[in-house]
Amino acid sequence: MAHEPRDVPYSADLFLRENQDFLRGIAACGDVHAARRILYRRASMRQYGAAESGHDLRYVLARDCARVLRGLLAERSDRLAGFSVTQAIWDLARSVARPDLQPAFHAELIHLMRGLQGKVDLYSVAKEPAEPEALNGREAALFRSEQLDRLWATVQNRMDRYESGLLPQAILRRERRRQRVLAALGGRPEDWTDWHWHTANVLRSVDVLANAVKLHPDEARAVRRSGEAHLPFGVTPYYASLMDDDPEAGRDRAVRAQVLPPLDYVARMACHRDDRCMAFDFMREGDTSPVDLVTRRYPAIAILKPYNTCPQICVYCQRNWEIETAMAPDALAPWERIEAACDWIQAHPAIRELLITGGDPLALPDEDLRRLLDRVRAIPSLDLIRIGSRVPVTLPFRITDALADLLAGYRVPGHRDICVVTHIEHPYEVTPELVAAAARLIGRGLSVYNQLVYTFHVSRRFEAASLRLLLRRVGIEPYYTFVPKGKEEMRAYRVPIARVMQEQKEEARLLPGTRRTDEPVYNLPGLGKNHIRAVQHRDLISILPDGARVYEFHPWEKNVVRRQAYVGSDVPLLEYLQRLEASGEDVGEYRSIWYYY
Ligand code: SF4
Repeated sequence: MAHEPRDVPYSADLFLRENQDFLRGIAACGDVHAARRILYRRASMRQYGAAESGHDLRYVLARDCARVLRGLLAERSDRLAGFSVTQAIWDLARSVARPDLQPAFHAELIHLMRGLQGKVDLYSVAKEPAEPEALNGREAALFRSEQLDRLWATVQNRMDRYESGLLPQAILRRERRRQRVLAALGGRPEDWTDWHWHTANVLRSVDVLANAVKLHPDEARAVRRSGEAHLPFGVTPYYASLMDDDPEAGRDRAVRAQVLPPLDYVARMACHRDDRCMAFDFMREGDTSPVDLVTRRYPAIAILKPYNTCPQICVYCQRNWEIETAMAPDALAPWERIEAACDWIQAHPAIRELLITGGDPLALPDEDLRRLLDRVRAIPSLDLIRIGSRVPVTLPFRITDALADLLAGYRVPGHRDICVVTHIEHPYEVTPELVAAAARLIGRGLSVYNQLVYTFHVSRRFEAASLRLLLRRVGIEPYYTFVPKGKEEMRAYRVPIARVMQEQKEEARLLPGTRRTDEPVYNLPGLGKNHIRAVQHRDLISILPDGARVYEFHPWEKNVVRRQAYVGSDVPLLEYLQRLEASGEDVGEYRSIWYYY
């Protein structure tokens, strides 16, 4: 059975042809409600039939598909999603023209119905002969062990596609790149390890950047337009040195995507230059900020944002509506506002953990950071101070011995801990400089965690798995895997939730336990993190005409406190697979993605 988008002309015809039995008599229904009742019953009967057949795990697949189909057919789903899948199926069955329905819509229904009938080959990572039933004891163990060896060889082979920044050839490449960046900026060799030199020489314009880095014409155009529209932009000289002279080799794809904005992103951001707060505050931080500089979405955690800038700007920054530019002067809030924020936190002793983020607090000078942490330390309820910083990745020289000593000074074992949560996206970002920075922190008893934002550019098979393995070798713990937010300007970065689920099950799950401790989450506007590992935290309620899945996400307080759910749409699976294919991936290897809901 072909699964590649290129080979499958997903269409209404194919859907109707493959499901004649299931749709029999639907065209004759007098109204959509009658059609709904029949389809709903047939979905359940298919599930019942699959259970009777007793055929291995295909029953589970049929059960999942039946559950999803019933959810899509529900009248309540129509109301919530503003679109009726039942009406669409009824129309198709009656040959009513539905030009609004795209191939991505048909693809979803076709795969769903195939799953319901057990007509799916899911085993896309490795094919293995079944274990002979006669084997037991040591013989069975040896057979199984050989199977596991072969499986790991497949995994290793896939992971080897992604070059780490610790490989000798990568180190050599970066040394040459460093010379070019220094030359472009008129720097001396001894400047390279001076973090002040880097923050004073952030690459902000296309002309300076093009002198230091080989840019594709589209990249240059986007950076130029970004400058003309006064959008936040900036790359540290160090991070620029991670970009290769032969970008067509694809090793630095994730590095470039971090900082070089796509053209459509620039266009959207430029349109809303003057109302960014309204247009891009996806997380509705305005609605969860009880006092200036503070965000609170959970009972025991608050976020403090005293410093509104970073050494470099990530394109998909959640706070792209707030941050003005890289290393903006006057980005530190007035001390009286910081004091007022800390007073407020102190007046709410339920808050046990404070995340200091921004902006990047570790871009502050030591003396400001000390003053800030001294004030925070005086809040008696806090037993964990979490510093959110991308500096270990964008400017590892900032993690000096003095800074590590300063941070470690706030750690009182048994009373209060302090840790750093950083944001490493790809093995190619893991360099000897980053390892040394992490070692300075870890060596002083500070834990370092990683939050991976699972963007399109790091979402190929085993790409994130290879990062997790590497992180543990550095001593950094994988903490969260974030589904990119549903921000429209970020479309080029988004990955369907189904892919995150697939990655967790078919890739991360193959790693040893301590290498995959990260929790996949989706941040919901006004609500906070939805843990997507468990399907009971959301319901798939509709497929829109363009193939986008619509989910009803349950609030994290479900079963604890009554709160509204959040309805949001995903990126269409077919669109994602087509982009993967265009980037050279064999999308047949991703075919089970249709069955993660
Ligand atoms: S480091 Fe964090 S706050 Fe700064 S630009 Fe990147 S995502 Fe935004």
